[in-house]
Amino acid sequence: MLPFIDLKHQYGRIRKDVLEGIEKVLESTHYILGAEVQELETKLSEYTHSKYVLGCSSGTDALLMALMALDVGPGDAVFTTPFTFFATPETPALRGATPVFSDIDEDTYNMDPEKLEQAIQKVIQEGKLTPKVIIPVDLFGQAADYQKILPIARKYGLKVIQDACQGFGATCPCGKIAPSMGDIGCTSFFPAKPLGCYGDGGAVFTDDEELYKKMYSILVHGRSANDKYDNVRLGLNARLDTIQAAVLLAKLKIFPEEVEMRQVVAKTYFEELDGLVKLPVIRPGYRSVFAQFCPRSPKFHEIQDALKANDIPSARYYPIPMHLLGAMKYLGYKKGDMPIAEACAADIFALPMHPYLSKENIQKIASVIRSVVRG
Ligand SMILES: *Cc1c(COP(=O)(O)O)cnc(C)c1O
Repeated sequence: MLPFIDLKHQYGRIRKDVLEGIEKVLESTHYILGAEVQELETKLSEYTHSKYVLGCSSGTDALLMALMALDVGPGDAVFTTPFTFFATPETPALRGATPVFSDIDEDTYNMDPEKLEQAIQKVIQEGKLTPKVIIPVDLFGQAADYQKILPIARKYGLKVIQDACQGFGATCPCGKIAPSMGDIGCTSFFPAKPLGCYGDGGAVFTDDEELYKKMYSILVHGRSANDKYDNVRLGLNARLDTIQAAVLLAKLKIFPEEVEMRQVVAKTYFEELDGLVKLPVIRPGYRSVFAQFCPRSPKFHEIQDALKANDIPSARYYPIPMHLLGAMKYLGYKKGDMPIAEACAADIFALPMHPYLSKENIQKIASVIRSVVRG
């Protein structure tokens, strides 16, 4: 079977660096908040031009920390997309806030700024919830439309939490590097993400000193700035392991090169699959990090079967939009409320995507798809 995401090939490249890094941590015995965590935070800050970075235990905890820092809770409306991974609406719901969905852009699969504004106006008109936060998602590695979303946030006095769990390193016409577009940026280092570690991990990013200080406190049980046994608020245990930080330091060294390699892979896919499936659209001026490569086809089922018969893995992100999930049923959405997200969910599929995917293998994937589509 062809790998869906070839972490083994990558490990072969960085093996020496990773093992030396891990060994250093083991010898140091500073397994929690060791020097590597701070070193990683500094490197991530340099890479994204974000002033403050805090490593944490996952993308989910990054979102939770951001929401806690912004005091999001019961009675608050959190505007987000119905086409994402469940953690995006799950975390505001866990805080007792109400996720409010608005439909997506058909081409980029990302939040549609016009529909976002309509959703905000509707909540204001109804007068039951306080509009508080927008969580745009950089789906499949392409940044959301921050040039339109940020002015909407300012117009209505809302904060923006950027869910860049799939988008670390993505750039957009504003010139910023994800996740530095919003008030707080969140990313995940889950192994399959563009920058992944060898377990769970994540980070939060901000330029705002107050928000940084609050998240610093929340990261370790609401510690005070000087004394971790003087707890000044409710917090979490959401630290990033030192061993994972060491792995990430090794991976970050080759990350810029890998992002370039992903561009080459994506370009080959675009050429080979042209006319066979509905291809994802990368808007001019955007650089996606291609966490996933997800086309659409009414024949996705036959395509997936044919790929499998040829030892080529595929997947489906995401078969059920958020507003129709059982866990979100209490919000009262029904089928037909988000027609574009629902149509995407009905026929989208994901092909193998990683920096080390060869042109020959992409051509093989394309020829299988061609044989299904052209009969
Ligand atoms: C992966 C992901 C998350 C959650 O990250 P974890 O590290 O798995 O907790 C959140 N949002 C999106 C869009 C993701 O893809």
